[in-house]
Amino acid sequence: MVNIRICPKCKKPTLRTATNVSGGIAPNLYECRDKKCGYIGSFYVEIDSEDYKLDQDENSLE
Ligand SMILES: [Zn+2]
Repeated sequence: MVNIRICPKCKKPTLRTATNVSGGIAPNLYECRDKKCGYIGSFYVEIDSEDYKLDQDENSLE
C-alpha cells in the first residue's frame, strides 16, 4: 500500500518536492508540475493510492 500526494488545488498527483533558488531541495515545500495550476506551498493532500486510479493521460503533461 502506497500513499500518494496530490495537489490541494487541482487534485492531481503532480506534486513534487520544490527546489530552492540555488537548486537545493526544499523539504517542506511542494510544487505542482501542472503549468495551468502552478501551486506551490507546504500543504499537500495525501491519499491511499488504491483510492485514486491514476489516469495515464495525466502522466504525459510534461
Ligand atoms: Zn496543482
